[in-house]
Amino acid sequence: MPEGGTGKRLKICGWGYEGNDPTPEEHRLIEAGIAERFGVTDTELVPPPTEAEIELAKPRVGIPETLEAFCSAGTYDRALHMYGKSCPDYVRQLNRVFEHAPDFVAYPRSEDEIEAVLDWATGARVAVIPFGGGSSVVGGVEPKVGDGFAGAITLNLKHFDKVLEIDETSRAARVQAGTFGPALEAQLKPHGKTFRYYPQSFEFSTLGGWIATRGGGHYATVMTHVDDLVESVRALTMKGVYESFRLPGSGAGPSPDRLLIGSEGALGVITEAWVRLQDRPVHRAGTSVAFDDFYKAAECVRAMTQSGLYPTNCRLLDRNEARANGVADGSADILVLAFESADHPVEAWMERALEICRDMGGRPDSDQLQAKAGGHREGASGAWRNAFIRMPYLRDATMGRGLCMDTFETAITWERFPEFHAKIKAKVEQTIREVTGRPGLVTCRFTHVYADGPAPYFSFYAYTGLAGMLEGWWAIKTAASDLLNELGGTITHHHAVGRDHMTWYQKQRPEPFAAALSAAKTALDPAGILNPGVLLPPQPGG
Ligand SMILES: Cc1cc2nc3c(=O)[nH]c(=O)nc-3n(C[C@H](O)[C@H](O)[C@H](O)COP(=O)(O)OP(=O)(O)OC[C@H]3O[C@@H](n4cnc5c(N)ncnc54)[C@H](O)[C@@H]3O)c2cc1C
Repeated sequence: MPEGGTGKRLKICGWGYEGNDPTPEEHRLIEAGIAERFGVTDTELVPPPTEAEIELAKPRVGIPETLEAFCSAGTYDRALHMYGKSCPDYVRQLNRVFEHAPDFVAYPRSEDEIEAVLDWATGARVAVIPFGGGSSVVGGVEPKVGDGFAGAITLNLKHFDKVLEIDETSRAARVQAGTFGPALEAQLKPHGKTFRYYPQSFEFSTLGGWIATRGGGHYATVMTHVDDLVESVRALTMKGVYESFRLPGSGAGPSPDRLLIGSEGALGVITEAWVRLQDRPVHRAGTSVAFDDFYKAAECVRAMTQSGLYPTNCRLLDRNEARANGVADGSADILVLAFESADHPVEAWMERALEICRDMGGRPDSDQLQAKAGGHREGASGAWRNAFIRMPYLRDATMGRGLCMDTFETAITWERFPEFHAKIKAKVEQTIREVTGRPGLVTCRFTHVYADGPAPYFSFYAYTGLAGMLEGWWAIKTAASDLLNELGGTITHHHAVGRDHMTWYQKQRPEPFAAALSAAKTALDPAGILNPGVLLPPQPGG
């Protein structure tokens, strides 16, 4: 089914619309990179499966007549909703493993139609997986629900794609949950406003998904998570409409919003939210700063976060990360730094920030100091930005050649960071050597930073070959996650829990909290049909 009037179809396996594939030059660079780094010169590309190759199990439940007008059991629709966009999702598709497709997909056009789906599914004991853009990297949308259900269907919110109201005075908007990033910004632009939430998946993820996963966006400091940008939420639950007051803040007990923010489709279907807007920035200052020592650079970032300067971008890339993204040649660690404002020039902030960097041994690139609109698209920041946007389009081409590449992200307090980082990196490197018999590459950057600690984001590259990739990935993922748990880091800073992180999330959360969450699930979804298996083990009831 074409997306939002674009006339284009999303790829079943891969990022973006059909036809937006890696260029011959990108293929050449991937091949050359694998040869240079891993010494493998005879890679053969396994292409993504075509629709004709996809054979799905017969649906366990058919579309009831009452829902027929907005549901589909076509192969394309079922296959598109079978997986998210994680490394194991890609590997299984490239290996032609097509498991857990939903029995059918519902595309409701109104809250009444969502209610009709939920009512039918409760009666039929069928699991319902809410779906925004399907960009989950943690198994959040995979209809893998176990045998306690008669079937599983996906509820795609794509028709909920509008900005319904704008409050210019309080600078907020009422937005439907299925609105994708570009559509949201396009509707806000005529009002001179922006949501300014740019996850790397911006193009193909939705407001509802951002809220349901407690995602992390554009701002490196202060408003890091979507939580900070949400004023109130509206969701449909089995106990009726769950809608919070629009408030700038409230001390009235535990927050109703916060129970839904991060609920991963397990407590209700988010249909809309009032979100906080920003004026579009017109003042910008950005540059990059080189460091000879990663931990010294991290100390500098700590000083920055504790200075009260609050840079918009404060992304520390270790030297391999900088090289892999074409930001620098790999001889230094690079801090990409930027300030922005819709109200006032920010050069003074930048000057003070650079003073801190110099005091900590950093070398600002004065040639690249950008203090003009659009400056963030040039120099090291520009190179970083381009690589950041393009990377998702290259994953199937890289993995199709046998290179396992994935990321994991966490957060930790500053006093534990150096030892934490060194141990995690060493453990993942060692596991890659054990799994593949050759060295891999493990890089780190900070995506978000706080006065009390950073959110380090690790990428790893291991040449497993496609046939051994799932097993290899799982061994590396398990080693990293076990150690994150042991060292007191979170299993996720912004990618969410999904199904993949459950083992470690269950160890991380206090037991009484788990009991309270389970009780909330029972209260809001007594039959246990909403996205069973995320946040809590499946608990079919009813
Ligand atoms: C290349 C790439 C880059 C990424 N970069 C970032 C990043 O920078 N920051 C970040 O935070 N994440 C990132 N992610 C992860 C992912 O994009 C986020 O988790 C995003 O918030 C998911 O939004 P979505 O609309 O695609 O949700 P989906 O993937 O469709 O769903 C995610 C979860 O939310 C639930 N859900 C979705 N919509 C609703 C709804 N309306 N009501 C109730 N539950 C719902 C689903 O059931 C599921 O559990 C990235 C992923 C990829 C593939």
